[in-house]
Amino acid sequence: MENCLFCKILAGEIPSSKVYEDEFVYAFRDIHPQAPTHILVIPKKHVASMAEVDGLNDLELASCLRAIRLIAKQEKLDSGFRVVSNCGPDACQSVPHLHFHILGGRSMEETMA
Ligand code: AMP
Repeated sequence: MENCLFCKILAGEIPSSKVYEDEFVYAFRDIHPQAPTHILVIPKKHVASMAEVDGLNDLELASCLRAIRLIAKQEKLDSGFRVVSNCGPDACQSVPHLHFHILGGRSMEETMA
């Protein structure tokens, strides 16, 4: 997708700190980490958000969730982690390419909003 920041990262046009890649998924470190471990997991196929997830097939979607488990193990987030996907303006989504934040490495607040 033209002019999509994360598609440009996928294409190697913008550098990223890769932590995981498979056929359907790419993951890299967030440039402004909000926790000691803060990783973004994205599908390689462009869909804007969870609201458009019907643009992915079941394998593409499940691969994101399976990648999250693998990355959490790889990053040794054994005592827990949080997964967040902001969708749309009310959730302050800033990059319109579906992504899952993995946050870990410290205790999280009980409140999520
Ligand atoms: P969201 O606000 O949920 O759409 O999340 C977008 C995330 O992308 C934010 O946490 C940003 O810090 C992160 N981000 C923006 N540009 C880059 C980049 N070039 N490399 C890595 N992370 C980025």
